Amino acid sequence: MEHETKYSEPRAHELRERYVATFGGAELPVPVEAIAEDLLGLHVSEADLDGVSGLLYPAQRRIVVNVADPAPRRRFTVAHELGHWICQCQDRSDVQVYCRAEDVTLDPSARAVEREANIFAAELLMPEQAVREKWAGDADACAASFGVSGEAMRWRLFSFGLAEPPQ
Ligand SMILES: [Zn+2]
Repeated sequence: MEHETKYSEPRAHELRERYVATFGGAELPVPVEAIAEDLLGLHVSEADLDGVSGLLYPAQRRIVVNVADPAPRRRFTVAHELGHWICQCQDRSDVQVYCRAEDVTLDPSARAVEREANIFAAELLMPEQAVREKWAGDADACAASFGVSGEAMRWRLFSFGLAEPPQ
C-alpha cells in the first residue's frame, strides 16, 4: 500500500507570513517560539516531562516542552503543539493535550489528530519552496539550516520526492 506523501496546510503558511509581516527578522530557521509567544500570545516553557514530548494547556494558552529533548526536537514539538492549537483548540477547550514522544514524529502511522499536528509542524518549519532552494543533496546540512532533526528533514524531502524515506 502506498502512503499519502503529499500534503499541505495553508494555516501554517498564513501564520508564518503573518509573523514576518508583523515582526520582520530572519525567515530561517522559522522563529517558532516567537510565533507562539509574540504572535499568538501563548507561553512556552520547558520542564522534565518524563517520556512526554510536549503538553498544551489551551485554556491557559500554555505550551510545555521536554527539556530532555534536543533543541531541534523541542522546536518541532512547539510547532506540533501550535498545530493542535490552530487546528483543534480554537474553541478554547479545557482539555489538556499530552503528546507522547511517538506522537511527535513524521511517521505516517501516527494517529489522525497527531498526524494533523505533525503536518502543520512540517509545513510551518520546512516551507516547500525554501527547502527546495536549500536542498543540495545533504539532508543533515539542510536540516541544520531549518533547525530541525535530520529525521524530520528526511521525511520532508521524501514527501517532495527528493530523497528516500528515513530508515
Ligand atoms: Zn500532539
